[in-house]
Amino acid sequence: MVSRVIPVDPFDLIIFGGTGDLARLKILPGLFRRFASGQMPPEARVIGAARSEMDSAGYREMIHASICEFLPEKQRREGDLGKFLERLEYVRVDATGTDGWADLKTLVRSEVTKAYYFSVGPSLFGAIAERLHGNGIAGPKCRMVVEKPFGHDLGSAQALNETLARFFDEAQIYRIDHYLGKETVQNLMAVRFGNVLFEPLWNAQFIDHVQITVAETVSVGGRGAYYDKSGAMRDMIQNHLMQLLCLTAMEPPSKFDPDAVRDEKLKVIRALDPVPAENIVRGQYAAGDGVASYREHAENPESRTESFIAMKLHIANWRWNGTPFYLRTGKCLKNRLSEIVVRFKEPPHSIFEADAGRNANELAIRLQPNEGMDLNVTIKEPGPGGMRLMEVPLDMTFADALGASGDAVPDAYERLVMDVIRGDQTLFMRGDEVEAAWAWTDPIIEGWTARGDAPKLYEPGSVGPEEALMLMHRDGRRWRDLKA
Ligand code: NAD
Repeated sequence: MVSRVIPVDPFDLIIFGGTGDLARLKILPGLFRRFASGQMPPEARVIGAARSEMDSAGYREMIHASICEFLPEKQRREGDLGKFLERLEYVRVDATGTDGWADLKTLVRSEVTKAYYFSVGPSLFGAIAERLHGNGIAGPKCRMVVEKPFGHDLGSAQALNETLARFFDEAQIYRIDHYLGKETVQNLMAVRFGNVLFEPLWNAQFIDHVQITVAETVSVGGRGAYYDKSGAMRDMIQNHLMQLLCLTAMEPPSKFDPDAVRDEKLKVIRALDPVPAENIVRGQYAAGDGVASYREHAENPESRTESFIAMKLHIANWRWNGTPFYLRTGKCLKNRLSEIVVRFKEPPHSIFEADAGRNANELAIRLQPNEGMDLNVTIKEPGPGGMRLMEVPLDMTFADALGASGDAVPDAYERLVMDVIRGDQTLFMRGDEVEAAWAWTDPIIEGWTARGDAPKLYEPGSVGPEEALMLMHRDGRRWRDLKA
């Protein structure tokens, strides 16, 4: 695979929360990979801004240690790493006070592209925006990258949007959902709109159903008390799974342009039907398999927060009338796996013997592990024995098919940060999209709260509660196995 270097203007990337986990684990290792592959201009700088008392030399040491810990050895040549670290600066800034802002102002360069990454809790967004504006270091050409969670409900998301809008234009705001930075997710658009094969079949006439799964093996662990205030619906469905649903279900945009794509995604969210209680299964992991129970992790013996959710959704428009979308996500499950599965209908009439077997095509888009796609097609079982049918996968694992080592597939964060520098908002959520997603989510949560529904318990290391399997079985369908 030929790696194409797209020129990028010199930039200052200022990371608020530059000493936090997200910066150390994801953002800076990702940027280093871009630097090592020659995609960061020599004049580019990264400025860590956080509360800790430290100087630039100390910050470089900290990031050196993180990169060595989180990137495999073959991805970090010492020479490159040394040069990358020279690009780093650090400034101690109090987001809610006055300390450090004058130092930051001295440090940032007026003539280059500036991106401010808000890698801090949302309670600090307003304070930082106000101070950037007040210190005159965030003019109309600057970009703001905003992390999740973007609100807790519609009201808080609207308040956040209003706060940001007081200081910046929508065109400057990059609300990040790292699922959109995944290679496969973008490939979903390439497959749908870059081929004639799929789009004519991409509708209720030919698609039986779609399933979207994001399964994690980890528990909520030490984040339990924080997670308990959100749950799987807010933490995963409202944002990540909703974005995957939108890209799967949207109409073809007129061009690959930020507003054209986001307009189409917004229409999908607005077309979602309310979800009746019988189409929602909430679960909570019990103790087992050496794992403490969710309630113990959450430090809340009465907790009714879900660590698992499965739902059946309907999109009320011409394209999808009658084709359900099943979503599921959870912690402490059997395997770590994220995929979108498009299950086509069976051929309307079989010309083969009744016992020959009858299959439907299935397109699986894997986000992790082994980013790639496979398409199941029906062929004749080889050898004697008459005409018997079998399903075989046409497999396209990106790392194999493109002759690339897995390292050449960019990580979601590195791609998205570079998109910010280029000024491309296509893979970022617009304010109205986020609000529409909350407007759909809120009544669902209000519904189960008012009913006092308790989540069903499930065993750690399982596929979730039995009721989630029934959600599909009662429709004569089944989830794909959660195989690694
Ligand atoms: P963290 O707690 O590890 O780091 C917080 C950072 O904010 C630190 O650098 C700290 O110095 C800085 N900070 C806190 N208060 C400050 C203040 N008053 N002034 C200046 N700096 C201050 O958090 P994190 O895990 O890096 O996450 C950051 C944000 O990103 C959070 O909003 C989180 O929800 C979101 N997020 C994190 C992840 C992840 O994988 N860690 C994933 C998605 C989203």
